[in-house]
Amino acid sequence: MKKKISIVVSVYNEQEVLNLFVNAFEKIKNKIQWDYELIFVNDGSSDNSLSILKELSDKYPYIKLISFTKNFGHEAAMIAGIDNATGDGIICMDADLQHPVECIPQIISEFDKGIDVVNMIRTENKSAGLSKKITTFLFYRVVNILSANDSFKENASDFIAISKRAADVLRKNYRDKVRFLRGYVQNMGFPSTTITYVAPERAAGKSHYSLIKLWHYSTNVIVGFSDFPLKVGGYAGIASALIGVLVIIDALLTYKKAPSGYATIIVVLCFMFAVLFVIIGIIGKYLAVLFYESKDRPIYILDEKIGFNGEEND
Ligand code: UDP
Ligand code: MG
Repeated sequence: MKKKISIVVSVYNEQEVLNLFVNAFEKIKNKIQWDYELIFVNDGSSDNSLSILKELSDKYPYIKLISFTKNFGHEAAMIAGIDNATGDGIICMDADLQHPVECIPQIISEFDKGIDVVNMIRTENKSAGLSKKITTFLFYRVVNILSANDSFKENASDFIAISKRAADVLRKNYRDKVRFLRGYVQNMGFPSTTITYVAPERAAGKSHYSLIKLWHYSTNVIVGFSDFPLKVGGYAGIASALIGVLVIIDALLTYKKAPSGYATIIVVLCFMFAVLFVIIGIIGKYLAVLFYESKDRPIYILDEKIGFNGEEND
């Protein structure tokens, strides 16, 4: 039987680009070696995205639609798409054409070779400014240093392709509430490869990621893959105890001169409190992640599902 590829596209307020995306897909669909389905996941858009997607799913029989009750975030949308995909391989991509649909046939030929995970690496991101480039660079440096057992590819994007068996692992075992999907996929240990692509400018509309969002995202990733920050408190304690011993010795040796020492006290006090609060903040961050995981609330809630006709993925 001919294999099937599921293409999962997350959509949040993308009314300007949806038709462009489907037009681009229509142009390359004859080059796709397998059967295909296009699963759009509407992540609680407040513009006309949902009605446009409904029209598109009426017009094209290969288009399926999942719609959330509210905005649950890009990764939740990818997970919902993966959960509902019926294909032998799954490709997650953005709706704004920053992930070129022209790469699809190349990805499928990797699946045909028995590869389970295809990491799509951006060689150039035309719409990223200098600040985004620097923060991305620092993010990968820090995460790779802190996470001992896992490693992350720089410039890997949310453009990922996984086989059915890799998807099954995600469906069953990676249900974290605070998560880093592409990090999981890269570290599963299945045969994997990379394909490079150039990310063009967004076709229309604007990016949904602010620096603040990226900060939350990055710290969640670090907490998800490393316990090193939790140990910083211990190291800081040892270091300040050693410094304390030196200060005590110094105070004992020089006590007769009775220095005023006001500035020293203020500086030491401010520094120590700063260290203490940072450590409390780090512990708070881990606690917050534990808090979300222990509540075990759903990653997403479906409002509508169109075009699936009772097909199941297993
Ligand atoms: N997206 C989503 N939910 C969100 C934010 C974004 O599904 O809460 C989708 C968005 O519609 C797009 C993809 O995720 O298809 C990537 O978002 P965007 O292009 O804004 O990010 P950037 O490319 O600037 O990193
Ligand atoms: Mg984009």
